[in-house]
Amino acid sequence: MATLDRVARSLLLTELVSGMWLTLRAFFSPKATINYPYERLPLSPRFKGEHALRRYPNGEERCIACKLCEAVCPAQAITIEAEPREDGSRRTTRYDIDMTKCIYCGLCEEACPVDAIVEGPNLEFATETREELIYHKEKLLDNGDRWEAMLAERLRVDAPYR
Ligand code: SF4
Ligand code: SF4
Repeated sequence: MATLDRVARSLLLTELVSGMWLTLRAFFSPKATINYPYERLPLSPRFKGEHALRRYPNGEERCIACKLCEAVCPAQAITIEAEPREDGSRRTTRYDIDMTKCIYCGLCEEACPVDAIVEGPNLEFATETREELIYHKEKLLDNGDRWEAMLAERLRVDAPYR
């Protein structure tokens, strides 16, 4: 009986037809994939991407060189040096993040009392050398200037949950 069944199925091509039917159904059903990078999904306000250092609206750096982010970083990716300015305020003279060490945990952002260091929306920052992934203060401030509107909105939306 089993042999007859197998022969009948072979002759009638039922397995082939059912496979074609499955393909046809999938062809017309909604797609689960997108055509990245031409199509993108929305990012969560909590998305943790490339870092940025923010400024106040008057252009002054937010960072007060308290070094809490450096202390809390579990990967020891942040290196800060600081000196007092002539006006007595304390500011960083060096703020480096080794992005090859960073695990994108977001603890630096959570520890910062003035919302200076944040993780931005950019997820495409692959490089050809490791050296390019050592981020200096200038690059971090540039990132902050570029994304300020987006970062401020992201912090505002997330504020009730922090
Ligand atoms: S996201 Fe985490 S690992 Fe990366 S620099 Fe901040 S605290 Fe360190
Ligand atoms: S980024 Fe924030 S936590 Fe880090 S040193 Fe500056 S003020 Fe302190």
